[in-house]
Amino acid sequence: MKILIVGASVAGLEAAFYARKRYPSATIQLLDQSQVLGYHPTRFNRYLIGEFETLEGEDHALQEKLANQNITCLLNCRALKILPADKSLQIFYQGRVQSLTYDAMILATGSQDNQRLVQDFEEDSSLIKIRSLEESRQSLELLKQSDQVLVVGAGQIGLEASQVYHRVGKQVTLLEASEYLNFKYLDHPMSERIQRRLEQAGIRIVTGATVNRMSFHPPFCQIETSKAAYQTKAVQLATNFVPNSAWLKDQVTCYPDGTVQVDDYLQTSVPQVFAIGDLIRVPFGPYREKIYLPLVHHAKNSAKIAVENLFYQQLKRPISQRIIVSYLFDQTLLCGGLTEEEMRLTGRRIFVSYQEDGEDFIQILSDFYTGQVLGVQALSRRDISRSAAYLEEILACQKTDQALALESAFYRNGESVEQERDWLDFESHYLKRLAARNEACDASQSAF
Ligand SMILES: Cc1cc2nc3c(=O)[nH]c(=O)nc-3n(C[C@H](O)[C@H](O)[C@H](O)COP(=O)(O)OP(=O)(O)OC[C@H]3O[C@@H](n4cnc5c(N)ncnc54)[C@H](O)[C@@H]3O)c2cc1C
Repeated sequence: MKILIVGASVAGLEAAFYARKRYPSATIQLLDQSQVLGYHPTRFNRYLIGEFETLEGEDHALQEKLANQNITCLLNCRALKILPADKSLQIFYQGRVQSLTYDAMILATGSQDNQRLVQDFEEDSSLIKIRSLEESRQSLELLKQSDQVLVVGAGQIGLEASQVYHRVGKQVTLLEASEYLNFKYLDHPMSERIQRRLEQAGIRIVTGATVNRMSFHPPFCQIETSKAAYQTKAVQLATNFVPNSAWLKDQVTCYPDGTVQVDDYLQTSVPQVFAIGDLIRVPFGPYREKIYLPLVHHAKNSAKIAVENLFYQQLKRPISQRIIVSYLFDQTLLCGGLTEEEMRLTGRRIFVSYQEDGEDFIQILSDFYTGQVLGVQALSRRDISRSAAYLEEILACQKTDQALALESAFYRNGESVEQERDWLDFESHYLKRLAARNEACDASQSAF
């Protein structure tokens, strides 16, 4: 039995190691077009703020781990085309076109930055690019030559990048087309807090500024927005990703945005060929709408699910709870589930409460009648990242604020578990919702 995995980043590596556990005697082959293994784009930021001593990733350790598990890995190897009739993959390796056969194949070629704004330019030396080790090295040189950095896009990546550049002494301007920051994941009250925090630190934020045009005049880049024009030596595009699926065109069925269509078992339109990670959409929200949410968590989960289904349909993919963890200066942002804006569109009656305790701020959203928790956004000085799994469980199991209020009471005198859960005060949310419900009941009775 031969399993071929295309793409050896987060999703591909997870798939390879998990496949070894599930199919101990299978031949497992992994390939990637890059020169090194395990380089993750977040490494650049973490190196800048001193969390890592070198930019280099885990290449050697990973190569060793793969060899120990009898998984072969071809680097500098680009997938070109699937040949379903022969169950083979055409590749470009060692200077020539070759082919590899498979019994089951997993596509994990991920995503790339959206280059729409710069695709017409041959010269883009002012762009900070951090997807690969080579790009990151060049971007490091670029940063050394520039006191100012302009970041386009205030989603999670743009926000994190802005604060990292600020921390290393750059003057940062952050441009965002929407009226508030990280609007996909946050509601206005949380977004405002984050904006205040960044502005207090000295980051210049311009919202409602759509970038219409960029041009490069070395060493400068000129950026024209709907509000003003900017000139900078270093700019990072932190706008949406696009899936790396151009090579799959006309071979597997894709959505118009290039994401690969898969069934509930992650199989593509080609039998025995699966797609995972940033190549695919995930079901999310009350209508299980399939949306593009490129996240590490999804990459790892989808890898395991595809591996489970390689030879028998065993495991359907779950609905995403869209859990995000982000670090902003000395605070951790954790959010999951739906935003208030999204819930309003469904017409369902909801109850929202805010809790504030010094620097900690939490928004909890629940169903007005049943109390089912629908979304949580929390910002804390404590490292609440470890509560991500707990939050996911709350949302996936459709827990109610009442159940959670009781649970936290049970844990109140407990030990370590309680420490992690205590910051999410469902008890007061539950009591506030009850009071609001009673008020609504009284009002409807007095109307008779
Ligand atoms: C700056 C940045 C910060 C991020 N921060 C976070 C975060 O804090 N939290 C979070 O959850 N997510 C974050 N993400 C998203 C996260 O990195 C991705 O969701 C994750 O890397 C997806 O993994 P993947 O394996 O599907 O794809 P990728 O990581 O994109 O890997 C795809 C691999 O396929 C290879 N490949 C592509 N085409 C071919 C081909 N034709 N032949 C052979 N190989 C090919 C590539 O070389 C690459 O190694 C961040 C992303 C970026 C860019």
